[in-house]
Amino acid sequence: MQRTAGIHHVTAMASDPQRNRDFYEGVLGLRMVKRTVNFDDPGTYHLYYGDGVGSPGTILTFFPMPGIREAVRGAGITESVELAVPVGALGAWEGRLAEAGVAAAPDPGHGGLAFADPDGMRLALTERDGLPEPVAWDGPVPADIAIRGVDGVTLRVRDAAVTTGYMATALGLEEAPHGLRALGAPGATVRVVEDRDAPRARMGAGAIHHIAFRVPDGPRQAAWRAELAAAGANVSPVMDRDYFTSIYFTEPGGVILEIATDTPGFTRDEDQDALGQSLRLPAWVEQHRGRIEEVLAPLGPAAPVGAR
Ligand code: ZN
Repeated sequence: MQRTAGIHHVTAMASDPQRNRDFYEGVLGLRMVKRTVNFDDPGTYHLYYGDGVGSPGTILTFFPMPGIREAVRGAGITESVELAVPVGALGAWEGRLAEAGVAAAPDPGHGGLAFADPDGMRLALTERDGLPEPVAWDGPVPADIAIRGVDGVTLRVRDAAVTTGYMATALGLEEAPHGLRALGAPGATVRVVEDRDAPRARMGAGAIHHIAFRVPDGPRQAAWRAELAAAGANVSPVMDRDYFTSIYFTEPGGVILEIATDTPGFTRDEDQDALGQSLRLPAWVEQHRGRIEEVLAPLGPAAPVGAR
């Protein structure tokens, strides 16, 4: 059985790209490490945020589509992302979120602070020891309280046992109280909430589209893909996402899963200093750059907290 080292990234849908950047970079202090387009729909952005270099485990990505309908809450989806901050940092975050006009409340489920992004996507900050130091960057949040990465995700499904059992086998996760976790990875908890009567969730702004788990490299991803296919999963071919390669499949409860490689990473086509500063396009759409730049909404620097 293959085993993941934890979460690689979480991808969600949004509406306005500037508002998305103002929130994730300006308020939460994640660095926009890549500005590219949705490879399956090159007329829309794909924005990547993370630590100073977009280390696996720190990455949140968004497809901002101005004017798209709102998500519908329900079952068969990843419902929230929990982000880890250093022990003792929550007080400062409470103040920062209040200053930014973000309504936050204690989150008894995870012992942290719960809030939503501008599109209604649910987030929580939770204090954690023992997470690796993120790669620092010159962002708006002081390093001593900076977000360390993804602590975990919460799924809502109609039958928790089916989802938990499937993911334990397919991803090599260990069963833990309220869900699953990757072995040896403090920031890789998958919580599973059962909601038998929930309607099926519908994708839209504020919905988490999928969660990706880590694999070191392509050869191990290929072996994993073969294993999933042999076990009957409807697993996609290997897709080249330029900064990693991906395979996708769906667990029986409806949650979309991905396995993504740690390599080659976001410095593949930009120096670390320049990450996210210009629009990067995959080679096969570079010829359409002029038209793509015309249809994409302008995207400026993140507004600082207090300036909005
Ligand atoms: Zn992904």
